[in-house]
Amino acid sequence: MALIAAASPHVMNTYGRVPIALSHGAGVRVWDVNGKEYLDALGGIAVNTLGHGHPKLVPALQDQVAKLIHTSNYYHVPLQEQLAARLVEMSGMTNVFFCNSGLEANEAALKIARKYGHDRGIALPQIVVYEKAFHGRSIATLSATGNEKVQKGFEPLVEGFIRVPLNDIEALRKATEGNPNVAAVFFETIQGEGGVNPMRIEYLQQVRKLCDEREWLLMIDEVQCGMGRTGKWFAHQWAGIRPDVMPLAKGLGSGVPIGAVVAGPRAAGVLQPGNHGTTFGGNPLAMRAGVETIRIMEEDKLLENAATVGAHLKAALERELGGLRDVREIRGQGLMLGIELGKPCGALVQRAADAGLLISVTADSVIRLVPPLILSVAEADEIVARLAPIVRGFLAEPQ
Ligand SMILES: *Cc1c(COP(=O)(O)O)cnc(C)c1O
Repeated sequence: MALIAAASPHVMNTYGRVPIALSHGAGVRVWDVNGKEYLDALGGIAVNTLGHGHPKLVPALQDQVAKLIHTSNYYHVPLQEQLAARLVEMSGMTNVFFCNSGLEANEAALKIARKYGHDRGIALPQIVVYEKAFHGRSIATLSATGNEKVQKGFEPLVEGFIRVPLNDIEALRKATEGNPNVAAVFFETIQGEGGVNPMRIEYLQQVRKLCDEREWLLMIDEVQCGMGRTGKWFAHQWAGIRPDVMPLAKGLGSGVPIGAVVAGPRAAGVLQPGNHGTTFGGNPLAMRAGVETIRIMEEDKLLENAATVGAHLKAALERELGGLRDVREIRGQGLMLGIELGKPCGALVQRAADAGLLISVTADSVIRLVPPLILSVAEADEIVARLAPIVRGFLAEPQ
């Protein structure tokens, strides 16, 4: 059989791609065009909440495609109200704006923060952002991102950001001392692209308190760590706090493009007619994907699954790899785990693929596992069985 080449000469060359072309999937497994099977521990980058070809999601989406895909926001979209009501209930917040991606959700959050500042008489509002943050690749969101590689070549950056380190309340106080122009604090509960870096529970509570004292918006980017991945609907809920603005995307539609900004009482009324909009955002197909994803997650108890299988996976990784000299830390929560090595390990992506496992490497030296939330204990063990020998072999090689 002639192997089908994985190449895209007419597609703009913006990704360092692994030379694999995937053809179909079932559950947490995918097959490439040559019939090779892979265990999917990447989940389309924390997107495929329900894995591939889910038997409850597929007929629902087929039904929706046949009814209505898109209508525009000139009309009411009842499915928007359905999904918004669910997100409000899950978050304890009040209103939702729908868009199509993570950066769009963050862009809307940044607009809310600026307008909130203007509404309060701040002519040039500023937003606190974090080292190693990732918020997207539009000009505004890459400016909020804390990674020079993402920003390089796209200067001038958008102004109005103050950058601070993670988990350091004194640094935040100091960076904003006596500054009347601060409107919002903006971070990921667990940084994804930055290397799976969690904000500590105590820090989350301290920032919530500070934001209340100063009347700043607390804006938490749950695009990657939200939607059940850590075992609660939203990762900040482990700290018992509630943000004022929460961008969502990745896992919300199980693979159908969707983004959302959820807002609480302090922020929900900031954007008024004419202030913001989108052509595709909130279309019936994406809304149905969101509604069904949440319904199936509840029916199949996937929050509990993410927590228990995630804990099992983390413990197994600790057992197999935790003692190695160049394994710095195994961290994260639920099914959002990072294994930080003592040296750059981008080469592991191809080696894992050769061994039938899809993973990613972020921040140069962190193996990231963000599999579908339907992962079983047996499949978690299979991930470890495929990954551990590769990591051991890699670390045993001379530098
Ligand atoms: C992926 C990601 C984004 C950007 O989402 P896109 O859909 O790629 O625009 C923003 N914030 C976080 C935390 C992300 O992980």
